Amino acid sequence: MRLRPEDIPASGLRVEFDLGPGGAAADGLAPGRLSDPLEARFFIEPVGEGVRVRGAVTGRLVLACQRCLAEASREIDLAVDVILSPLPEEFPEEFQLDRGDLEAVYFEEEVDLDRVVLDQVELSLPMVYLCREACPGICPGCGADLGREACRCGEGPPDPRWEKLKDWRPR
Ligand SMILES: [Zn+2]
Ligand SMILES: [Zn+2]
Repeated sequence: MRLRPEDIPASGLRVEFDLGPGGAAADGLAPGRLSDPLEARFFIEPVGEGVRVRGAVTGRLVLACQRCLAEASREIDLAVDVILSPLPEEFPEEFQLDRGDLEAVYFEEEVDLDRVVLDQVELSLPMVYLCREACPGICPGCGADLGREACRCGEGPPDPRWEKLKDWRPR
């Protein structure tokens, strides 16, 4: 959902919208994916040159373990309170150096509320998601999911048909 800042009355505006799975905006979500729509309920009001967005985002996200790729569903229930500023015509010289500026949220012609939802959800996620702290992951040799099955790398006697290839080297 997008809003033109001039359409937001001084008394504020209440908006509710869903951000469904499969939408272009939701595709950009990292590192999870949506299983159900995210629901946003915002109160939006002008603050000086900017726009303040307050409210809540709820929904469900599917995250894949970064070691074994097992997926788990995670509840999203976030309180949101962000101020978006108009994008400056020219960035001041010191812009690059100020971390605060880099984390600020800007808008141009329109305020992109989908982006606000996705940014807030992303910020709430752990940097590295593991299904459990000690997840052993996947064996790079045999592909066994070591949390559920044994490594098959050293398994069984080698097939005799391959024996003669053992000492083969490319010339
Ligand atoms: Zn795992
Ligand atoms: Zn293995």
